[in-house]
Amino acid sequence: MPYTYDDQNIFAKILRGEIPCTKVLETDHALAFTDISPKAPHHVLVIPKGPYVCHDHFALHATDAEIVDFTRAIGKVCAQLGVSPGTQGAGYRLISNAGTDGVQEVPHLHVHILAGRNIGPMVMAPS
Ligand code: AMP
Repeated sequence: MPYTYDDQNIFAKILRGEIPCTKVLETDHALAFTDISPKAPHHVLVIPKGPYVCHDHFALHATDAEIVDFTRAIGKVCAQLGVSPGTQGAGYRLISNAGTDGVQEVPHLHVHILAGRNIGPMVMAPS
């Protein structure tokens, strides 16, 4: 079954300007803003402006222009935060949750950029 995009999700409302955000970067096809409940000193969410539910939806259906712009937006935010190891930054982690097992809360593709401290183990051990 193909993806169905819910245009009432909170990030769609942010994109329409119905809910405020603390903007970090905006490009033609992407928006980056701070996470409302930060899990690290730097916690930025990067979202495409198009109606994509999660990463595989975007990767398979977005235009080349959207994919390039979104990917570069992530790089630009890392540079803006000063966390790129390529410029002596201390690094970061990218996370993109999808679906039930991925524990995705908001059904609009977003990449979390977490930085500013050691982010710890890649995943929590099963309880
Ligand atoms: P995920 O579990 O990957 O879907 O993550 C959703 C993220 O969205 C969480 O880290 C939330 O803290 C964040 N979030 C939810 N509402 C807002 C909002 N209005 N502004 C910024 N971040 C939000």
